[in-house]
Amino acid sequence: MTGDKRLHRIPDKVEYDQRHSDDFRGDVKEVGFHFCGYDYDTAEEQLKIYLHYDQLYYWKLAELSKMGKGFLDGQLWGTKCPKCGDKFFPPRVNCWNLDCNLEKTEWVQLAQKGVVHTFTIAGWSGKSSLKRLPFVLAYVIVDGCKTAVANELRGLKPWDAEFGMPVKVVWAPKKERRAAITDFHFEPADGWKPGPMNPEKERMKELCEPVYEWVKSMQ
Ligand SMILES: [Zn+2]
Repeated sequence: MTGDKRLHRIPDKVEYDQRHSDDFRGDVKEVGFHFCGYDYDTAEEQLKIYLHYDQLYYWKLAELSKMGKGFLDGQLWGTKCPKCGDKFFPPRVNCWNLDCNLEKTEWVQLAQKGVVHTFTIAGWSGKSSLKRLPFVLAYVIVDGCKTAVANELRGLKPWDAEFGMPVKVVWAPKKERRAAITDFHFEPADGWKPGPMNPEKERMKELCEPVYEWVKSMQ
């Protein structure tokens, strides 16, 4: 594989600048799964995320560092094929257009808007989001990409979600971002108005109502 220009080089030795290390090294508590901080090597564009789960560990975003650092900065970075122009978010390292023979893609900053490809209404979830049920999980095509990204769609009644509806990206406050997909969510684009009620939306509303009642009953 050595010398294959279609593959990114992964550096085997990376010097991290440690700019953020002092923020967390002396303050690791037994708090369960917990984000502690990050290091970003500007020369190699490598992002390392520190997490704590009984003990401190880290994971490198490696090929996805550009995307992860973008989340921290409130930017969406995807990839684009230099041959056919197809864009991908989530990013793909190589173009999946069969005509391109896995051409290596290039990073490109994306517009923070998209359209809903498909969605589901969640009536059950993990503990951290139980009290926000029911909510919409949508697969969104960002900025005309050939891939779709799953994330929460907020700011509307669940039964008002529609295929093809325009959405925008809304970021968590900067200090809460963790270089993770949960650093942002989607909301309807400015000016979007839900369509009138119809039998399918009525059916979804009926399914949602018991969930609202159950959430209210939680302590
Ligand atoms: Zn291509």
